[in-house]
Amino acid sequence: IKRNQGEHEFHQAVKEVIETLEPVLRKHPEYADHKIIERICEPERQIIFRVPWVDDKGEVQINRGFRVEFNSALGPYKGGLRFHPSVTLGTIKFLGFEQIFKNALTGLPIGGGKGGSDFDPKGKSDAEVMRFVQSFILELYRHIGEHTDVPAGDIGVGAREIGYMFGQYKRITNRYESGVLTGKSPAWGGALVRKEATGYGAVFFLEEMLKTRGIGLEGKTCVVSGSGNVAIYAIEKLQQYGAKVVACSDSNGVIYDPAGIDLEIVKQLKEVERKRISDYVKLRGGATFIENGNIWDIPCELALPCATQNELDGGDAQTLVKNGLLAVSEGANMPSTPEAIKVFQDAGIAYGLGKAANAGGVATSALEMQQNASRDSWSFEYSEERLKVIMQNIHQNCYDTAEEYGSKGNYVLGANIVGFRRVAEAMLAFGVV
Ligand code: NDP
Repeated sequence: IKRNQGEHEFHQAVKEVIETLEPVLRKHPEYADHKIIERICEPERQIIFRVPWVDDKGEVQINRGFRVEFNSALGPYKGGLRFHPSVTLGTIKFLGFEQIFKNALTGLPIGGGKGGSDFDPKGKSDAEVMRFVQSFILELYRHIGEHTDVPAGDIGVGAREIGYMFGQYKRITNRYESGVLTGKSPAWGGALVRKEATGYGAVFFLEEMLKTRGIGLEGKTCVVSGSGNVAIYAIEKLQQYGAKVVACSDSNGVIYDPAGIDLEIVKQLKEVERKRISDYVKLRGGATFIENGNIWDIPCELALPCATQNELDGGDAQTLVKNGLLAVSEGANMPSTPEAIKVFQDAGIAYGLGKAANAGGVATSALEMQQNASRDSWSFEYSEERLKVIMQNIHQNCYDTAEEYGSKGNYVLGANIVGFRRVAEAMLAFGVV
């Protein structure tokens, strides 16, 4: 803790993992003998750099860039880049730490990393975003590569930003290295289903959790927080399964639409026009915008937090349980506080933590790397089927492992143990490195 002072989110993420590992450490004393936990908590490399750029008024702006290359035991570092004013080193470290175990859970050959900047893309012109990104890559390019570190998107980083990054990387290196970034447009090396993968994957995971309880998705009332990439495609898949999504949100407030969210309107507002979700009510009768509202006050059977970390606290969890909640599937990273998780677990709610439930995004990124390496591109249907099977396997592994360790239905324990063991075994094999 002394070494990582003030990094509260990082402490929270580490604590959640370590608390569940005690039974594994008892079974495998060699992990403690080789200080696997101590080593796993220390990033292999942390890069912090200045990102100077010039805004449309001609003023110089300075941001801070980060890349935390956390663990490469299973493959090149892999994890998204986040552009949001709240980003600090502690944020990136918590995300990178989670990413190690999430990536291991997918069973694919990818290590864990994360990066980003405190740059705020909101209200910036395309030209400003481009100049910022070009400056960001001017430093980052020397640390990344298809065999070293492969970034992707996260909050504030979508296809536009990845396009600018790839263009700048290609220009500096004079290499068309498709595998250096994922989340690219399918028009030039991106994989189909990558855009949809995290949201779809969270719903596939939810479906598997519900199956163990003999419940289906059809007709269920759902609430999905956020209205970004993950939220949009979680809503899409829920609707395809016949569930009814009555609310979504952004950081300004909540849309409540009792007739069911009209996703085409959300896509038009958020993906095309880059507007705020409050504009939804101008285009749709019967819906209300609750400024600064709390989305978890809206009664639902299924809750999918898809916005950001610690967006759902203990009080929210109690409200959800009181309102008849059946299951939670996290599209976001660490959206539920430790108090909320405890409420869900004590109430016997099926609780799918982000590390497992949102692993579909990075899994499909790894499939994008496979396609780039073989200069191939797969159909939408084939890619979606691969994603579905991966999510089913993650679910099964977490479920079986929790049962093996005497904690049936505890996906937190199952996911942490499966992910940790894969990484630990590789680290043991490599010796003290
Ligand atoms: P986007 O930038 O596309 O969307 C983020 C959404 O969350 C927006 O609606 C945003 O609202 C809202 N949001 C962000 N920060 C806050 C905040 N501090 N308070 C309230 N609302 C907030 O990001 P993604 O959809 O890609 O990411 C969402 C979550 O999913 C993150 O936790 C991310 O780490 C996680 N994730 C994403 C993956 C991916 O493939 N993209 C993969 C795995 C996990 P506003 O516009 O007002 O900021």
